[in-house]
Amino acid sequence: MKKEIDIMRLLKRLFDLDNLIADKEADKKIGFKIDEEVGLLSLKRERANLLKEIPKEYADTYERVKKRYTLALAEVKNGFCFGCFQQLPTEMLVRSNEIVTCPNCGRILFWREE
Ligand SMILES: [Zn+2]
Repeated sequence: MKKEIDIMRLLKRLFDLDNLIADKEADKKIGFKIDEEVGLLSLKRERANLLKEIPKEYADTYERVKKRYTLALAEVKNGFCFGCFQQLPTEMLVRSNEIVTCPNCGRILFWREE
């Protein structure tokens, strides 16, 4: 069983990867070179491998939120969810080593490592 902090790290990698893929797909619309096509394919392969490392329940949550909002993760800053800009309950703010979702929008919350 993986620790939540490790799973969170994997989810963040998945999130970064999805942002890269989204960038490349946006480039595709404005003219795409063949080496970029190859790059996109390898990113997608990396994504598929990464997904296999993430326990299914978390991967499912991620995919569900992503389908709804495009960005599945939201940063917590000054006690606010930066996905929906709602203030989070104070008891959630001490749980930065656990995987928690925003009670308002459902995005997976992350705290930037300092
Ligand atoms: Zn939120």
